[in-house]
Amino acid sequence: MSKTTKSTKTQQLSKEQLIEAVRKKKECNARAQAIVESLLERNINEDEFLRKLKDINQCHYDDIVDERNILRLCSYPLCDEILENVPTKQYQISTTTNKVYDITDRKKFCSTKCFKASEYIKSQMLTSPLWLRHQEIIPEFKLLKLND
Ligand SMILES: [Zn+2]
Repeated sequence: MSKTTKSTKTQQLSKEQLIEAVRKKKECNARAQAIVESLLERNINEDEFLRKLKDINQCHYDDIVDERNILRLCSYPLCDEILENVPTKQYQISTTTNKVYDITDRKKFCSTKCFKASEYIKSQMLTSPLWLRHQEIIPEFKLLKLND
């Protein structure tokens, strides 16, 4: 028996499919929000952290960085440092390159190592809608090893 051509009319969602899509979207957003909140703490487990990354987007990761900064924690979720003596200036001049750097983002981290590790994670994050994730190949997230 020849199979009928696979549905090419994917645009045409039935009402039930639409309801399901909305439900899925809500569910994904709620889960992402819970993940963001769970990563605003200290003593976060590495494996757990890596597992959670596939259910959030880059924008959620940005939220984590900002929220941790508000809480005065190093913004890298796997770091337990509390930020003290955060420079108030926005720019810094490098004595080696004589260049002026905007340190707004760097200031959210206790060290350059944490900053780089965080940027590394963020670069791997997915940007596609969370509710379409099940159709996607999820990459394996890797940590930048801090102890060099
Ligand atoms: Zn740190």
